[in-house]
Amino acid sequence: MSAKIDLHCHSTVSDGLLSPQYLVANAAASGIKVLALTDHDDISGLAPARLAAAQHDLHFVNGVEISVTWKKRTLHIVGLKFDADNSSLKMALDKVRYTRDMRAQEMSAGLAKAGIAGAYEGAKAIAKQSILTRSHFAQFLAQNGHAKDVKSVFKKFLVKGKPGFVDSNWMDLQSAVGLIIGAGGQAVIAHPGRYDLGMVNIHLLMHEFRGLGGSAIEVVTGSHQPPQYQQFAKIAHKFSLKASLGSDYHGAGLSFMGMGHVPELPAGCVPVWDDWPEAKFLI
Ligand code: AMP
Ligand code: MN
Ligand code: MN
Ligand code: MN
Repeated sequence: MSAKIDLHCHSTVSDGLLSPQYLVANAAASGIKVLALTDHDDISGLAPARLAAAQHDLHFVNGVEISVTWKKRTLHIVGLKFDADNSSLKMALDKVRYTRDMRAQEMSAGLAKAGIAGAYEGAKAIAKQSILTRSHFAQFLAQNGHAKDVKSVFKKFLVKGKPGFVDSNWMDLQSAVGLIIGAGGQAVIAHPGRYDLGMVNIHLLMHEFRGLGGSAIEVVTGSHQPPQYQQFAKIAHKFSLKASLGSDYHGAGLSFMGMGHVPELPAGCVPVWDDWPEAKFLI
């Protein structure tokens, strides 16, 4: 059985292909009953998504996916159920978006040196009003024939050591978790299996995150391989962290898993939604 809850997905406010309204309609049509929208570093999609959710049979939960630098690596921290009017959170995210734009210009300069001109403008035309992410650069590069698809563009241009890669300095873990909790929300480590951390760093991260007041880790996500579900269920248990679940849906062709196709949490996990009134019927 697939889960009826999805606590990780993206709209056109970041690097997703569907507007918040269409994303909500897509979730409802896929059988999702509780949804969080978690755009990268931007919460401007929450109000329109919440309005759309009211027109469908769907409970909406505020969400965000914050970019963090931890031990020189980029991690993603999902925030859930925070107050979207919290001014500290809004100001911090404004700053991240400014950093993103500077980084996009540097990425474009790197690509120009490799003979690809106009990447900033090209990515911006794809992103329209939204923040600029590596996904937008990937789409620009793929559309212009620099690689056969978005996946190979990443390998060729957008990862460490490649011309379009810029080492970002995002906010630190303590700030991200502190902002989310300060705004009344819960912090979740997104797709912990995707960072290639190794056992020692996984344990250090879980310990530190728990100490900062983090609530949960994603156990089942479109960004994990199935064997990782059990692996991270065990880690959640070991560190007394709850378990979260989400598709990480970005749109057709950009996602490993469609909405409504995410397996349920393994038995024994404590769901991050175990005390949420809007998800009571799922327990
Ligand atoms: P950014 O936050 O700007 O570094 O962009 C990261 C986004 O790029 C992620 O959230 C994914 O949506 C996408 N992404 C990262 N790595 C890959 C990859 N190997 N293939 C496809 N998309 C990727
Ligand atoms: Mn993304
Ligand atoms: Mn992510
Ligand atoms: Mn994501």
